[in-house]
Amino acid sequence: MAKKVPHRLYLTEEQMPKKWYNLRADMKIKPDPLLNPSTLEPLKVEDLYPVFCEELANQEMDNTTRYIDIPEEIQEFYKMYRPSPLIRAYNLEKALNTPAKIYYKFEGNNTSGSHKLNSAIAQAYYAKKQGLTGLTTETGAGQWGTALAEACAFYNLDLTVYMVKVSYEQKPFRKTVMETFDAEVIASPSDTTEVGRAILKNDPNTGGSLGCAISEAIEKAVSTPGRRYVLGSVLNQVVLHQSIIGLESKIAMEMLDEYPDIVIGCAGGGSNLGGIIAPFMQDKLTGKASPRIVAVEPASCPSFTRGRYAYDFCDTGKVTPLAKMYTLGSSFMPSANHAGGLRYHGMSPILSRLYHDGYMEAVAVEQTKVFEAAVMFAKHETILPAPESAHAIRSAIDEAILCRESGEAKTILFGLTGTGYFDMTAYSAYLSKQMKDYIPTDEDLQRGFDKLPNVEI
Ligand SMILES: *Cc1c(COP(=O)(O)O)cnc(C)c1O
Repeated sequence: MAKKVPHRLYLTEEQMPKKWYNLRADMKIKPDPLLNPSTLEPLKVEDLYPVFCEELANQEMDNTTRYIDIPEEIQEFYKMYRPSPLIRAYNLEKALNTPAKIYYKFEGNNTSGSHKLNSAIAQAYYAKKQGLTGLTTETGAGQWGTALAEACAFYNLDLTVYMVKVSYEQKPFRKTVMETFDAEVIASPSDTTEVGRAILKNDPNTGGSLGCAISEAIEKAVSTPGRRYVLGSVLNQVVLHQSIIGLESKIAMEMLDEYPDIVIGCAGGGSNLGGIIAPFMQDKLTGKASPRIVAVEPASCPSFTRGRYAYDFCDTGKVTPLAKMYTLGSSFMPSANHAGGLRYHGMSPILSRLYHDGYMEAVAVEQTKVFEAAVMFAKHETILPAPESAHAIRSAIDEAILCRESGEAKTILFGLTGTGYFDMTAYSAYLSKQMKDYIPTDEDLQRGFDKLPNVEI
């Protein structure tokens, strides 16, 4: 019998990564540059300084430095909740009667209940170092807002969070958690910004969207002295910080003499996926190995599988730079009954490039199937997953079932990004069979594509 690997593997503090890995350095074809929305010229790093902290703007534009030191203060902060465990899903494997070996990296062990703190603490650190007094941001489901509130409280920075109105109403306790860390939380769209007022005038009953909350947060940042804007996903800098997930996973798997045949992650804006795959994608880019890499997204917000690879705004208010990415159009709003998160219209430009060039696959899954996987996972592995994370679980289960059918003992690694304690409205809709699947029609999507900016470069 093969030697039994432990259920949970933690690295020691000494083994923890001391550098982040920048995937762009190994990409033969780099992501296309951000464009100034008015001139359509590629942005220079100085153009970002009014909106972003300088060091973060530098990281955003750095396509060449392969490894970037994690400042010691951030390493110390990480040690409060990292390393995160690499867990072998023995009980799930047994329940599925699969020869596959399923591993997951669990990032839910901090108050934000997600991987978001990995980047939040880095962003707050660089803001403090630059002498700023505060930050603004948006949050959808609330995990990013919570993570950033934790990080800002640690560094004594002011924080205003624009929270997508539907989530604000569905998850009142999220607001209280953020307020515990002294954040100011505003339902978006709001009357506190010009862009918010304009959106409300157009559609007073809107439930809001991430894109719209981003526009509000940026306006607030640039109109308040000493403030900058930060974002919890999509951006290159965030994917960079999240590489800690993959770097830890790879070290842990090496200790077990394992290497994944398939790496799976859910994809909202792409940060956890970009993070967990980073060192494995490096192996693929440099020809050392060729694991399959799978992005899992909601069928109701299918940026990769049905989006266009085009320049688009990162927000509904069209104030951000243009990014070349897989997008449904910045005006796209997922159906109001979509409960599983991952509702952003676009996708990380890094992952978009890699997907476009054939280095990764994507699948779209319906929400009832996602919650079915979530419940099965909870019962066998005892962790109640975030609906976002359950997209990855769904795909891991599907792959393990394929292994059962083919008899192949593949090694599967997936990212369990967080816990779902604040998602009881969605769980309850699923358990009471009220949850419906919704797949946008081609015409629905075409309306979003019609409003894409017309950029030819
Ligand atoms: C934010 C979030 C996601 C999706 O964001 P990415 O940037 O795509 O990683 C996934 N899972 C959880 C728990 C989240 O909080």
